[in-house]
Amino acid sequence: MKRLVAIWLFLMLLVALGVPTMAAEQIKLAVLGKSVHPYWSEVELGVKAAAKAYGIDATFFVPPREDIARQVTAMEGFIAQGVKGISFAASDPDALKAVAKKALQEGIPLVTLDTDSPDSGRYIYIGTDNYSAGKEAGEQMVKILNGNGKVAILTGSLTARNSLERIQGFKDAVAKHPGIKIVTIQSDNEDAQKALALAESVLQTYPDLNAIFGVYAYNGPSAASAIKTAGKAGKVHVVCFDTTPDIIKWIKEGVIDATIGQRPYMMGYLSVAVLYNMNKIGVKNTLQMLPKTNIDTGVDVVTRANLEEYKKLLKNLGIPVKW
Ligand code: BGC
Repeated sequence: MKRLVAIWLFLMLLVALGVPTMAAEQIKLAVLGKSVHPYWSEVELGVKAAAKAYGIDATFFVPPREDIARQVTAMEGFIAQGVKGISFAASDPDALKAVAKKALQEGIPLVTLDTDSPDSGRYIYIGTDNYSAGKEAGEQMVKILNGNGKVAILTGSLTARNSLERIQGFKDAVAKHPGIKIVTIQSDNEDAQKALALAESVLQTYPDLNAIFGVYAYNGPSAASAIKTAGKAGKVHVVCFDTTPDIIKWIKEGVIDATIGQRPYMMGYLSVAVLYNMNKIGVKNTLQMLPKTNIDTGVDVVTRANLEEYKKLLKNLGIPVKW
């Protein structure tokens, strides 16, 4: 955390140094996310705030839902527009490798956010340490279930690294407790309607289910909604990711037990900050000031008991809170 704050302050300082030149050049950067969702709106807020602070132009794009082909064409579009840096979150890291290589060959600095693509040639990853965050979710689940119970894992991707790493971390945490059984792992490809249908169907297929682990931002709320409709609130527990307003509502209502709060605003802000500095002082000099391969934006375990404390923490970090 201290390290993150230091990087944050350092980049803020560079804002001050960079601003006077803003009229002279119009740097245009691009950020590519994974789906239309309030989670990505928070990323976009961070992108726009940083672009304003640096006096540059930053374009932000997300496909309606998981759409690997659309991400490739979006990247091609950014290259054709002559952007001076791209931050991207690959729904499938392998599928984006070729277009990433093309961007680098054209001298466009690349970083990743939210989910990493280490083989793409990107310079640095900005986001959650997804393996350890998944492990934290697993540990929360163990606590809530007292080490015993059947769990379904619902996610939005079986190709994006963040989803796979969270699931692996979760599995490793619960593996130490033989009383916990993972009965199924299913994906909805970031389609909110499909997510709800999947949550309803696992409740029917496994009438003795004790909990759902919701891997992506809308998995928690769709699980909570299906559980409430089935009259199983309190009987089927939910541990999930993120703190969008709908998740907070379900936490207040007691249907979601715990969530791992990521910091999407910071992922967006820092993406622009890092790419801006790569343009201003060069890739090498920028990387020298940063950790080796990733900027861990951090997570918080949020429950009904610590909601107010969490809100204060976000405010102290300068992250806008919409609930
Ligand atoms: C993930 C994103 C995903 C979002 C919405 C978040 O938890 O980090 O990769 O796109 O949920 O589905």
